Amino acid sequence: MYLLEFQHERDGLINAQVRADRLHLLFRQSVFSVTGSLLGALMLSGLCWARVDHALVITWLSLLSGSTLLRGLLLWAWFRSPLNLRTPERWEMKYWLTLALSAGIWGGGAVSLMGPVDVVTQALVLLFAVGMSVSAVSCYSAYRSMTIVAIGLVLLPCTLWLLCQPGGIQVGMAVASLVFASFVVSATRKLSEAMERAFYTTREMEYAHRLASHAAQTDELTGLKNRRAFIRQAEKTFDHCKRHCLALSVVMLDIDHFKRINDSYGHQAGDQVLRQIGAAIRDSVRDVDISGRLGGEEFALLLTDAAADDAQKRAEQLRDAIARLTCDHGEVITASLGVATMTARDQTFQTLLNDADKALFCAKAQGRNRTAVA
Ligand code: GH3
Ligand code: MG
Ligand code: MG
Repeated sequence: MYLLEFQHERDGLINAQVRADRLHLLFRQSVFSVTGSLLGALMLSGLCWARVDHALVITWLSLLSGSTLLRGLLLWAWFRSPLNLRTPERWEMKYWLTLALSAGIWGGGAVSLMGPVDVVTQALVLLFAVGMSVSAVSCYSAYRSMTIVAIGLVLLPCTLWLLCQPGGIQVGMAVASLVFASFVVSATRKLSEAMERAFYTTREMEYAHRLASHAAQTDELTGLKNRRAFIRQAEKTFDHCKRHCLALSVVMLDIDHFKRINDSYGHQAGDQVLRQIGAAIRDSVRDVDISGRLGGEEFALLLTDAAADDAQKRAEQLRDAIARLTCDHGEVITASLGVATMTARDQTFQTLLNDADKALFCAKAQGRNRTAVA
């Protein structure tokens, strides 16, 4: 049941990331397509200028400039918006609308250019429409349906118009265009599937890596950091505090007569006590502090920005909280704590930890359930 829930949650997270990845790729690739469609229309108009209706061309180019401006503004808004607002819910529909508008104007303009001209000019227009379709594949391939709609809007009007003409050459061009379009649509499917698989694999690997690195740093029983992770992070904090002359204290904690709990109530009961102590430690630390289980029934806390008095007070509060824990077996659990505060003499974190360990030894020797300061 737990595994199913976990898998469900993981799949949901990865799906959302893949959707966001596709959208990011779409916008990155759009810079070219937005300007490319207007440039293509300008080139085609220049080549056919002597043979087409000038008013028609100017209207077409004006409409296309308007839609290009709209798409440019959309891109500008996207690149300016903060990362957390770049969600598919916010952007996909707007993108769809501006793309359909622009492709529709392109295809509509191209078909209206074809009407009164000779067959060579018609072939030229069709050639440009085919070129636009190829660029749609390279720009929108992360979204298969978008690619197909863009190709359809640009290429189909000219193709269908040619298909309805009486001339054999025109029908031949239309058939060639349809054959080309069917190949492109099938290639689009393969391309978008491969892209989606690549996105999934990347995100799944990232997820697995995060889980593995969390597991490698965490003590499974208590959820605190394990010894290696605690020491590694504590060494970094030690260096930072030493460099910036900040106060730093370390507290070592060892449960009193823990072996008796195991011997009297079993290992499971002992584990439950360890979990409760772990929770008490988590409750007692601030975000800037570091806590971990060093091994067995020994724990450590690194208190940042805590001078000796403050550290001793907080260690006492933790000792008191542990003594007030209610365990299933009813016995009172106590712990002994040793506190050490960084001085100019401490060159490494290890010497500070050793001082706290010696203080802990004194607390045990003085009768347990107490805090001793190095
Ligand atoms: P002291 O007051 O001197 O610290 O006595 P103590 O009994 O707590 O210390 P000792 O070192 O004699 O015993 C520690 C015990 O902790 C022995 C070991 O079986 C137990 N222990 C270590 N790791 C675990 C664990 O993960 N789960 C459980 N249940 N017990 C553990
Ligand atoms: Mg011990
Ligand atoms: Mg002990």
